[in-house]
Amino acid sequence: MKITEHIKNSNGKTLFSIEVIPPTKGTGIEDLYKNIDPLMEFKPPFIDVTTSREEYVYIEKGNGLMERKITRMRPGTLGICASIQHKYDVDTVPHVLCGGFTKEETEYLLVDCLYLGIDNIVALRGDAMKGENHFVPTEGGHKYAVDLVKHINDLGRGKYLSGDINCADDNRFCIGVAGYPEKHIEAPSMKYDLQKLKEKVDAGADYVVTQMFFDNKKYIEFVKQAREIGINVPIIPGIKPIATKGHLSMLPKTFKIDLPEDLISEITKAKDNTAVKQIGIEWAIAQCRELLDFGVPVLHFYSMGKSDNIKKVARELF
Ligand code: FAD
Repeated sequence: MKITEHIKNSNGKTLFSIEVIPPTKGTGIEDLYKNIDPLMEFKPPFIDVTTSREEYVYIEKGNGLMERKITRMRPGTLGICASIQHKYDVDTVPHVLCGGFTKEETEYLLVDCLYLGIDNIVALRGDAMKGENHFVPTEGGHKYAVDLVKHINDLGRGKYLSGDINCADDNRFCIGVAGYPEKHIEAPSMKYDLQKLKEKVDAGADYVVTQMFFDNKKYIEFVKQAREIGINVPIIPGIKPIATKGHLSMLPKTFKIDLPEDLISEITKAKDNTAVKQIGIEWAIAQCRELLDFGVPVLHFYSMGKSDNIKKVARELF
């Protein structure tokens, strides 16, 4: 079922959902199931599965020289989606990237989604490859998420790269796109970034999922400004309970976000990571309670391989 239908059918009740990361190549899916199992009691109507870009690895050639090869450390987003769907009878939402894929490869992936009964897709540009300082579009691939949204929308209407094909009316995917309550790092201003978000919605995106944030004021202001320029689709907040001292530097660096001073100071004073985890849980509960009062359609949790803290947060709310 489409995310927009799940939201509609909930009659104003906030839903619980999670995002998971595929396991690394060479490992099994069991750890991922162990991560999801404890959260199923909160009945997520959908689970997002991320996609990782290709990266360079350097292989010793034995003669003192290194060979650079391209690999994908976490392949198989669609396989993981199919497995989760089958095991838990829940909708899965693959993240589809511009970076690393030609338009043809993207189209094959979308066709596979149709065969798997996947109704929802989050359309993203992706980041720069590791070691590169800006995003370089893949040759023959899409440049911005908006181009991918148009492609996905076209395909749902039978417009394939090779020409038009008669297809069922319900072939259209429900498309999610990324939104940034603290602005995307490359955007020159919030106004500019919001305008680009509107272009994604005008091109056919059905809902927005936000980057994680720790200060609700930023999300609420973002929603207000989005509504003012005519973005009327659901804006789903992304929540991440902080769990380690290392997150203090890792989260801002990786996700280009700020952490509130109060939270930084509490975590800095914490004696160990058990204490940090508790602070993270309490912060997320307070954040979510305020967001529930604000009437958010879904609370979407970034699990990043951990579920015990999300379970403690969800127990207080759902
Ligand atoms: P876009 O919407 O294309 O925007 C990128 C930048 O270009 C922005 O600064 C925007 O203002 C600007 N822009 C947009 N359109 C235009 C245009 N037409 N002309 C000029 N400028 C333009 N990354 C992964 O690798 N895998 C994932 O699974 C993944 N999941 C994510 C899930 C969520 C909810 C979020 C918020 C992010 C996720 N990301 C993921 C990270 C994402 O790929 C990066 O943040 C990336 O840098 C931007 O992607 P986007 O889709 O927002 O890009």
